[in-house]
Amino acid sequence: MKNLDWGSLSFGYMKTDYNVRCYYRDGKWGEIEVCSDEYLNLHMAATCLHYGQEAFEGLKAYRCPDGKVRVFRVDENAKRLQSTCRGILMPEVSTELFTEMVKKVVRLNQEWIPTYESGATLYIRPLLIGTSAQVGVHPSKEYCFLIFVTPVGPYFKGGFSSNPYVIVRDYDRSAPLGTGKYKVGGNYAASLFANNLAHEKGYACEFYLDAKEKKYIDECGAANFFGIKNNTYITPESTSILPSITNKSLMQVAEDLGMKVERRPIPEEELETFEEAGACGTAAVISPISYIDDLDTGKRYSFGDKPGPQSKKLFDTLRGIQYGELEDKHGWTTVVID
Ligand SMILES: *Cc1c(COP(=O)(O)O)cnc(C)c1O
Repeated sequence: MKNLDWGSLSFGYMKTDYNVRCYYRDGKWGEIEVCSDEYLNLHMAATCLHYGQEAFEGLKAYRCPDGKVRVFRVDENAKRLQSTCRGILMPEVSTELFTEMVKKVVRLNQEWIPTYESGATLYIRPLLIGTSAQVGVHPSKEYCFLIFVTPVGPYFKGGFSSNPYVIVRDYDRSAPLGTGKYKVGGNYAASLFANNLAHEKGYACEFYLDAKEKKYIDECGAANFFGIKNNTYITPESTSILPSITNKSLMQVAEDLGMKVERRPIPEEELETFEEAGACGTAAVISPISYIDDLDTGKRYSFGDKPGPQSKKLFDTLRGIQYGELEDKHGWTTVVID
């Protein structure tokens, strides 16, 4: 293992030894190639550069206390990428190919998987891009699917803690029938301005309402939202949010812990009634929310300065499963290195 101060790493990019690539040409996927070059040799007219024909995924490899390395719900990431492919007319990457490439890239870079004690992990970034030279707006004929990895530090450096969010009414991340449910780079481009605005005002993240009526809760930046009240985990149902695998898992964990689960539209005013609230995604699992400000109405929805007991329980349980410390009764983890 590399001798690095893993715990001090941020969520940045660090060069590792290898990435894996697979090319789609003449209507089929080729062989998996191992590559040590960080750069792509890309045509300047590639569809990914001009028309956003690009999709990505994000998951992590965890070095566990039992010495094994596990990845979490890799088949779900493959399925979500397939859904994105159908959404923006790219050829699907099979679950088998996706999983094989994830395993391969993690094993090739095992020196770069941080220690368990550091709380850091190996972030895995699959990327699929249209590479054909084209100036007309059509789907590409050729594609490159690649996966690289980079060690990332622990999300909570000072321990599990809460952060403030701000509702942005003047910006939308995605339209009700747009690409919000697909993991494409364009959604992120659409969120940069509002995200920057939120940071400038001292908030951790921007909070979106549904684009059509500005009435219901959508997502927080690049994370799904949940609220908790009366022993019930409640998360938005919306056509413009990204189906988070963390959220899907937390819904199951909540049920396993004896909570009720509801997935339905959440009107903004309902925020007032939640005992706890949080953002969820692979990066943090849960990032508890201290308060959400609506600057237009002057309203502040508060959930306490510290993470609530149910958020803590959900967080500890999901992390315990990811690290092989709690029983994985739904078969969510895959051992990549034994
Ligand atoms: C990736 C992503 C999430 C989180 O999904 P996970 O699978 O839980 O990591 C949430 N919202 C957006 C917009 C995303 O791109």
